[in-house]
Amino acid sequence: MLTAKQIKQGIINGFVADALGVPVEFQQRGSYHVTQMQGYGTYQQPAGSWSDDSSLTLILLANLVQAGTMHDMMRKMVTWLTQDAYTPAQLTFDVGHSTQVAIQHFMQGSEPEMAGDASEMGNGNGALMRIAPLAIVLEDEADLNTRFQLIRDTTFITHRHPRALIGSVLYVELLRHLLSQLPLETALQQAFLSVQQLSLPRAEVAHYQRLRQPDFWDIPEQMIHSSGYVVDSLEAAVWVAGNADSLKDAMLTAVNLGEDTDTIAQLSTMIYWAQHPDAVAPKEWVDHLILPTNAEHIIDQFAQKYGDFGRSNKF
Ligand SMILES: [Mg+2]
Repeated sequence: MLTAKQIKQGIINGFVADALGVPVEFQQRGSYHVTQMQGYGTYQQPAGSWSDDSSLTLILLANLVQAGTMHDMMRKMVTWLTQDAYTPAQLTFDVGHSTQVAIQHFMQGSEPEMAGDASEMGNGNGALMRIAPLAIVLEDEADLNTRFQLIRDTTFITHRHPRALIGSVLYVELLRHLLSQLPLETALQQAFLSVQQLSLPRAEVAHYQRLRQPDFWDIPEQMIHSSGYVVDSLEAAVWVAGNADSLKDAMLTAVNLGEDTDTIAQLSTMIYWAQHPDAVAPKEWVDHLILPTNAEHIIDQFAQKYGDFGRSNKF
């Protein structure tokens, strides 16, 4: 069971990874080499600026703290999109297409569960990037269907295609099993078992088949794609986390893969951290992180609620 301190550090690690990737997002692998926290680049933001991944994670944390509905969560997302809320410096940047369209659907009257993109083209990593906290919330939840309901509802507000949903289930289940100290390979097998038990469409599960290869972590880097496609992103993150010697190594390897650098760094970091809950990002990077008091307060409240002493009143 995690302590409040471990939860807070884990969330902060994710923010740091996001900020590390922001300046080089969309750049091609090999065209740059990140070794430290830096500013500017893709979005012209100062060092330590985190993007949509962390903003949307923060919104999920706030909603879980308040035991809010999906309507409440989408209302928070509206303030992020239109009023720069939940951002490091009151400026919203790096908004994914499906997420933006879903929020607009909600603003036009769509129900949250119908707001997300159901098309095959809507299989980006926009749900994956914001749902890691669900693994902390659901760590002790024994009932698969209860877990599935929360993962599905949280995913569907922006992404409704079965492939994106399967990605969310695999990711949250993987993190849960890692938090309960299963080794990575076993945790991944257990995550696939959950997908199987939920009778999710096999043809869609097959898109994640490469993750089931026993030699997955031996795949050479040039065969690992680091795009924003949900399958690519999850594969890249699992590959990075499984091959990393340290949290710093995981963050830098992910950021230097190119393309969707910030999201893949954040996903890799959460997978690495779930295996090593005491792992902390390098101090100089944490010191650079722009963390407004209200954002830190949300993280603290979440950590207190779901840390070892606060779990009696979860949900
Ligand atoms: Mg981002």
